[in-house]
Amino acid sequence: MPSRGAEESLLLHFWPEQSVAEALAAMTRAFTQEGLDSPKRDARFLLQGLLGIDGAQLLSASTRSLGEAAAIVSEGANRRLAHEPVSRILGRREFYGREFIVTPDVLDPRPDTEAVVDLALEVVKSSGLAGRALTIADIGTGSGILICTLLAELPDATGVATDVSPAALDVARRNAVNLGIADRIRFIATSGLSSCGNTFDLVVSNPPYIVRDEIAGLDREVKDYDPLLALDGGADGLDVYREIARNTLELLRPVRVVLEVGSTQAEAVEGLFAAAGARPLARRLDLGGHTRAVAMEIHL
Ligand code: GLN
Repeated sequence: MPSRGAEESLLLHFWPEQSVAEALAAMTRAFTQEGLDSPKRDARFLLQGLLGIDGAQLLSASTRSLGEAAAIVSEGANRRLAHEPVSRILGRREFYGREFIVTPDVLDPRPDTEAVVDLALEVVKSSGLAGRALTIADIGTGSGILICTLLAELPDATGVATDVSPAALDVARRNAVNLGIADRIRFIATSGLSSCGNTFDLVVSNPPYIVRDEIAGLDREVKDYDPLLALDGGADGLDVYREIARNTLELLRPVRVVLEVGSTQAEAVEGLFAAAGARPLARRLDLGGHTRAVAMEIHL
């Protein structure tokens, strides 16, 4: 039963005798009461993940008692009530059909970032690079979702993944190993592309792009759990785009650049790169209909 404690915080406590269905119902109720965005879905995914079963098994297990899992389910449910995202509680998240490890050191992969992968693959095709041994750089790789997904989709490509956080690079490396592509990636702890060489066919990045003053107003799921380093884009949100524009200008050309952008930043980012000699190639919308990815090309 949900109960309100002294500081009005909702806590759940499950007993081994309670059924899976009871846990699911109590979690859904408590998550709704807490005002979480998708209480039903979160309760289902969290319970499935914590019990190590899929959706169909969850249904068929509904009369089973929680048993030894009661403690783990209580802890997971209470972490979600403190607004920790389900992916962080489970330590993993699906992205582009593959599973990635997520730790406190990396940005929680967002479904919207799949737009960057789609656009990058489209650019590879339209530039006649498909099937070639192309080289890709991922700046600020975090969990490694961009470079790992692209190399998994493009078996002849190799890549470099950079991040200023060595802890994030460890996570990206583990993800590359799990996906069987670690032998095609070099991981470099650096800012931007410094000390990475100067020949890339494609540069991708989902840089930190939140306006610094807006971070405090973000959802608790984001501001309390994503690393600040992965969010903070400086005073106007564009600091890291400027650095990437400087970096790509120093590369041998032609090079294509595919970047995630904030929902209002597409024009500003294309403008920054135009000043560096790039021409816009294409854009891609996210699930909410905002321009989420932009592609540009820098010629000789
Ligand atoms: N490239 C990673 C992602 O897209 C990390 C991005 C970041 O930390 N800003 O999730």
